Amino acid sequence: MRFKDIAGQIDVANHLTEIIDSGRVSHAQLFLGQAEDGALAMAWAYVQYLCCTHRQHYPEGALRADSCGECPECKRIQSLMHPDLHFIFPTATTTRVKDKPSSDDFGEEFMEFMKERGGRGSIEEWLQKLDIENKQAIINVRDASLVEQNLALKSYGGGWKMVLIWMPERMNTECANKLLKTLEEPTGQTLLLMVGESEERLLPTIRSRVQTVRLNRVERTSTEEAGMFAALLVEWLRLLFKLRMRELSGVVEKLAALGREKQRQFLAYTLGVMRSCFLHSAAGMDCHIGSGDEKFDAMFPNMVTTNNIEMIDSALNEALYAISRNANPKIAFMQLSFSMSKALKKR
Ligand SMILES: [Zn+2]
Repeated sequence: MRFKDIAGQIDVANHLTEIIDSGRVSHAQLFLGQAEDGALAMAWAYVQYLCCTHRQHYPEGALRADSCGECPECKRIQSLMHPDLHFIFPTATTTRVKDKPSSDDFGEEFMEFMKERGGRGSIEEWLQKLDIENKQAIINVRDASLVEQNLALKSYGGGWKMVLIWMPERMNTECANKLLKTLEEPTGQTLLLMVGESEERLLPTIRSRVQTVRLNRVERTSTEEAGMFAALLVEWLRLLFKLRMRELSGVVEKLAALGREKQRQFLAYTLGVMRSCFLHSAAGMDCHIGSGDEKFDAMFPNMVTTNNIEMIDSALNEALYAISRNANPKIAFMQLSFSMSKALKKR
């Protein structure tokens, strides 16, 4: 996972990479954010950057640094097969694991869940995957022992030993108490990274011992808004092909009139559409643009390919960043239009 693939969190990513680059990584951290905001994805990108041997820096870009995605360390983290990276998450008994469940029993399922959802899966989706019916899924004392064991092991690669605890608010008291000891005696290059949604539901003793990073809330789009965004997006996309300046500036005016919050939502919406277009052209997955014009709906998804998805992604993310930073929206959307038009020609 790379930071560039996570929408709406550029400032958080910049903050995190700066800390890693300066060697001030804290042993115990908490990433707070909702599943859809990409909290788990951020943690994934974070450990990948931490381990990457060819960190990339972009002095000119809105996103200032990212992992390379190519080195063996990146590849191991990307595939979640890094021997020094362990996951702890809520579990319960199932038809297969009938007694004393722990994260160790569901490693494969969790890896699948991470990959299928790109690190954006919710706890509800996880519970569904576990198929535990109405049982309560928790992180128990056996999991705390796993944390202890994993961090005490010698690192395979000679680098960081990392344990990621997802949904620490589901730790029971016994587990939390056992974990406190580990939190109090951090050793060497160890990282205990918690990813949760609600700070209030964490035990104060845990809360006070971790460094907290808050993710941005990425606004959700209502059905009504989605309809409005779809119409606007299609109008804009058609003009991007032709680059007719007068008409294009008409759409840019409309976008600029939306207000910042709606502009951010529109950009996040567009990112989602572009990614599903890409999944359509690269992997044949279903993609519905909903322009009302069948020909356009059938044609457009094929314009987003491996040749331009990165350009499109970074153009949209930079616009999102500019809008969050109070940039002039007309200029931001005009610049975005040029970048998008260039990218679409590269399909
Ligand atoms: Zn790398």
